[in-house]
Amino acid sequence: MTLPTIALFRDEFYLSTVEAVVTAIREDGGIELDQTCFYATSGGQPGDSGFFERADGGRIEIATTRHGETKDIIFHVPAEAQPAPLVGEKLVLHVDWARRYRLMRMHTACHLLSVVCPYPITGAAVGEDESRVDFDMVETIDKDTVTADMMALVAANHPVYLQWITDEELVANPGIVKSKNVRPPVGLGRVSLVCIGENALIDSQPCGGTHVSETQEVGAIFIAKIEKKGKENRRFRIRFGTPEAATL
Ligand SMILES: [Zn+2]
Repeated sequence: MTLPTIALFRDEFYLSTVEAVVTAIREDGGIELDQTCFYATSGGQPGDSGFFERADGGRIEIATTRHGETKDIIFHVPAEAQPAPLVGEKLVLHVDWARRYRLMRMHTACHLLSVVCPYPITGAAVGEDESRVDFDMVETIDKDTVTADMMALVAANHPVYLQWITDEELVANPGIVKSKNVRPPVGLGRVSLVCIGENALIDSQPCGGTHVSETQEVGAIFIAKIEKKGKENRRFRIRFGTPEAATL
């Protein structure tokens, strides 16, 4: 029987390791646990990879993490040819933290871009090296100006934190949702609002992803490209580093 997984990554973004017990092994080999700190693919952010440590020191490498039939079911996909754990076995989970932290920085950078570029979002994909955000906009905007505005938010070191509201409160305030096509993370009874700045002065929007706790942690980022995708669509590509270093 499939049991819900306690998703520790929803509010403990810096938790990279935790103990958990195997609750089920799926037909496809997916591992279900009583709780996890592995982020499950959702909202444009890829699921975590890493490894599970067994009592005898053996390792089970995990390729990615996904949601099951419903949002409260999470399963971990082992890499090729990994040993299968037993139901009831206790494991120590280890997220590939270097990768996840880059994703957290990139994901937060996407929020900063949506502050600088306040148009409806039609799509987004967070990546370790590059992220993209699509906006419904017809205006032409200078990428260096966008980079400078984003870096000003990074340098100001605004706090980034969560506020929880109920699904009903979100439905009653549709204006806080910036995504046009991406459904906000409802269905769990409560929704996390990602707030940037004291009293959410810079931004606040529903999001179930993982974020850094201060904008300074995002580090150097820049808009590498703005592509025209159809008459009303602009695709922004964010990369780590500086435009100067990238052209050397
Ligand atoms: Zn987010």
